[in-house]
Amino acid sequence: MPIKILTAITALALTAAPLPAGEPNAAATRWQPRLERIQACLDKEIASLEKLYYHLHSHPELAFQEVQTSARMATELSQLGFEVTTKVGGHGVVGVFKNGPGPTVMVRADMDALPITESTGLPYASKVRTRDKEGNDVGVMHACGHDMHMTSWTGTARTLIALKNHWQGTLVFIGQPAEEVGGGARRMIDDGLFKRFPRPDYCLGLHCAPNLPHGHIGYSEGLLLGNVDTVDITVKGVGGHGSAPHLTVDPIVIAARIVLDLQTLVSRERNPQDPAVVTVGSIHGGTKHNIIPSEVKLQLTVRSFKDEVRQGLLEGIQRITKAAALAAKAPEPIIRIEIDDWCPALYNTPELAKKTATLFKNVLGKDNIHEVPPIMGGEDFSRYGRAGVPIFFYFLGTADPAKHAAWKKGGPALPGMHSEFYYPIPQPTIRAGVTSMSVAVLNLLKTVD
Ligand code: ZN
Ligand code: ZN
Repeated sequence: MPIKILTAITALALTAAPLPAGEPNAAATRWQPRLERIQACLDKEIASLEKLYYHLHSHPELAFQEVQTSARMATELSQLGFEVTTKVGGHGVVGVFKNGPGPTVMVRADMDALPITESTGLPYASKVRTRDKEGNDVGVMHACGHDMHMTSWTGTARTLIALKNHWQGTLVFIGQPAEEVGGGARRMIDDGLFKRFPRPDYCLGLHCAPNLPHGHIGYSEGLLLGNVDTVDITVKGVGGHGSAPHLTVDPIVIAARIVLDLQTLVSRERNPQDPAVVTVGSIHGGTKHNIIPSEVKLQLTVRSFKDEVRQGLLEGIQRITKAAALAAKAPEPIIRIEIDDWCPALYNTPELAKKTATLFKNVLGKDNIHEVPPIMGGEDFSRYGRAGVPIFFYFLGTADPAKHAAWKKGGPALPGMHSEFYYPIPQPTIRAGVTSMSVAVLNLLKTVD
């Protein structure tokens, strides 16, 4: 019965949005028994998954410090019968579950949190403080939803193992460290992720989206996120007394010129069709009114979509900085581009993205699935695609639908990613995360109904 099917599907996605529009289709009918099995599994697991989510949220760890988190993820997979390897590329976890001949599908969750003091006021808010790598005392918070990614990943693993008589193939579940600093995926690949373990035919991942209501999904069939580079510049000068500038080379003036000249990299040197961002996020120099310092430090984030644009920006930053120093007869500046932690632009593999998004529309309701334009954020999930594996990465809505609707009507903005106030609505987001990822994986495995 059409209405019954639609009702069941909407309940699975647990969206507060209206029922999906349109007639049910052949795919929805075919998938209904699978969805019902997933639903039954989730009903059994949801209380425990919610508990896991609260635990992860209140015990966040910074990038490269994910000791307890990775141990917990390893235990979750071991208990399900995965063959688990730890310490892959740092605190990375790889679980392999072989279930007969068929495709190999990798599912990735990232595990690290951010140096942010949580201000949500939630009963399960993080009170954790730690030292960052510079030795500063910082609050720690899952302000990017990686706790939700891990919970959905765990729920998907539990669901797929419970349904193992209904599919064949190999699952590779990875817990990736250090996403926030852009180094975790590269380290796992360098440590043999695609050599020591079955090489995946497909790789799937999701990310919380603060600007979508829970039960909704955002996706792209190609470009989704940008290249992210970080650049550190030390502008050198010759220090001295503020009253005698003629005896100095003032690095503050040179740095100020550099900051303005850098703006022309985007406004004058780029094709307007090629988006790019050069942001000077930090500038530090000097100690007192009447002292001309001997150096000024700048920290930049550089964003682009195309690799040639990225190269042009990095070359231009060096050119402009050196030229400003030369013009002022200043010593050679130091320019450090963190090539290792470059986070490449994320391109979803079009066929895989189309196949999965079509499934989502058919079985989760097309009104809940939105094609979204690319944004200049970065995610090192892109590296799995650069390593030659077809990838699909999608956004999972986490917002309270009422607050989302109020915001759309001009009300208060919703806290974004990395905000001290950000949090997903736990239970419906977990349900939508597990349901969407489980159907996405099943759609790629050999199904046995
Ligand atoms: Zn983040
Ligand atoms: Zn993130």
